Amino acid sequence: MAKRVTGPEIEKLIQLLAKVPGLGPRSARRAALHLVKKKDQLLGPLADAMGEAHRKVRICSCCGNVDTIDPCTVCIDERRDRSVIIVVEDVSDLWALERAGAMNAAYHVLGGTLSPLDGVGPEDLNIRGLINRVTGGGVRELIIAVNATVEGQTTAHYITDQLQGLDVRITRLAHGVPVGGELDYLDEGTLTAALRARTTI
Ligand SMILES: [Zn+2]
Repeated sequence: MAKRVTGPEIEKLIQLLAKVPGLGPRSARRAALHLVKKKDQLLGPLADAMGEAHRKVRICSCCGNVDTIDPCTVCIDERRDRSVIIVVEDVSDLWALERAGAMNAAYHVLGGTLSPLDGVGPEDLNIRGLINRVTGGGVRELIIAVNATVEGQTTAHYITDQLQGLDVRITRLAHGVPVGGELDYLDEGTLTAALRARTTI
């Protein structure tokens, strides 16, 4: 057992930081030390920002995004085309697509994918909310932007089945060659998908 070098307050800070994705115990120790050294410039403002976020954060009751207001910033944005809903697994996917800035649509966060082996069924995901949004009218396209995994595809098929008969176009993201990618490095599945999804130049 290593000897303690600091008091329980800073130890607790290190232990909590170590739970943040991307930070292991070693990085957490470095981050904690940096924060403590920059007590006034960083630790104080960070503690205030965290406290405020903790008080205000909520999940959007419409789309499932994380925000401090409900409905969220995306849902109340008048400039978006709300007739197109991009369906994603996680809030991080919503944020990634927004960073790309390729579309000005609405979103719906499922909160995961169907995975019978892990005991994740439709009732565990925000699928009912999606169906309600579509049946509520005004939606002309659903873009299913889930991960290209077996679970992602199962989820896409389930949603498509549930919306059968409704006047809504259901599309999914193309699978294929990544921008800047070299064919030689791609797996066979990706190459096959890219060939099938070829487009006219
Ligand atoms: Zn929202």
